[in-house]
Amino acid sequence: MANVIGVDVGGTKIRAVLFKNNKAVKIKEIKTQAKKGKAAVIKNIVSAIKSVSDGKIKGIGIGMPGPLDSKKGIIHNPPNLPGWKNVPIKDILRKKLGMKIIVENDVNCLALSVLKLKKSKNLIALTLGTGVGGGIIINNKIYEGRENAGELGHIIIDKNGYRCNCGNIGCLEEYASARAIQRLAKQRKLKVTDPVAVELLAKKNKRAKQVYEQFAADLAAGIKTINHSFNPELIAIGGGIAKADFLIKKPLMKILNKDPLMKPPKIIFLKNPNLGALGASLLLN
Ligand SMILES: [Zn+2]
Repeated sequence: MANVIGVDVGGTKIRAVLFKNNKAVKIKEIKTQAKKGKAAVIKNIVSAIKSVSDGKIKGIGIGMPGPLDSKKGIIHNPPNLPGWKNVPIKDILRKKLGMKIIVENDVNCLALSVLKLKKSKNLIALTLGTGVGGGIIINNKIYEGRENAGELGHIIIDKNGYRCNCGNIGCLEEYASARAIQRLAKQRKLKVTDPVAVELLAKKNKRAKQVYEQFAADLAAGIKTINHSFNPELIAIGGGIAKADFLIKKPLMKILNKDPLMKPPKIIFLKNPNLGALGASLLLN
C-alpha cells in the first residue's frame, strides 16, 4: 500500500504527517505565518509536505480552515488566514507538487479521524481554540449541507450576548473559545497572556476554577443544541482548550446530565496532535 501525507493547516501551525497504513511515520510542524500573507503560507505548506515526503506517496490530503469548496478545492475567506479570498489551493498545490491533492475543512478532517478510531456512525467534532469549529458525521459520512454545514461555533446561544467576529450576536464561539476564557478571567481580575490560557490551568485557585465552570456552562448550552439537533452517539472535543478537560468535563456533564429533553451523547476530549492530519490523509482512501 502506498503511503499518504495528511496536512493540518491551522491559523498558527502547519502539521504535515507521512502515514503508512494510517500510522504516523514522519512528522513536520512549522509556523503558518498567516500574517505574512497567502504566498508565504503556501510556501510553508509546500515546504512542510516536502520535508515528510518519501517519494513513494500516492497523494496528499489537506485540512484547511473554512469556509471552502471541498469539491473544487477553493478556500473562500477564512477569518484566520488573512488575505485569502477564493484561493484555488488544490490547483496551486497540484501544479507545485505534481500529485493528487484533496482539500477538506479542517474540522471535518478531525471528525473523519474520530470516525475511523471510535467507530460511531453519527458523531460531531468540535474544536475549541482561537475560534470554535464543527464537523458533522451522519451515517459514516461528512455532512456538508449545501456547502458549509457544521459551522457549530456560530450556533446562537444568547441573542442579546456578545457580538461574534462573524457579525452575528451571541454565537457559541464568543463563549467557548480562547476569547471567552480571556474575558472570563479578566472579569475575575485574573491576568492571562497566553491565548489558550494555559497559565490559568496551572493556577488552580478558586477564581481560575470559576472561569472554567462558567466556560463549561456556556459550552453546555451549545452542546445541548447540537444534541437536540443531531442526537449523535459521540461528541469529540479537540483544539487547544481540550487540554483543560480536567476542569471542564465535570461541570459540563453535570449540566448535560440534567437535560430534561434527552440524554447527552458520550463526550470525549482529543489530545493527539496528529488527528487532523490523519483525517486529511483518510480522504485519499
Ligand atoms: Zn459567529
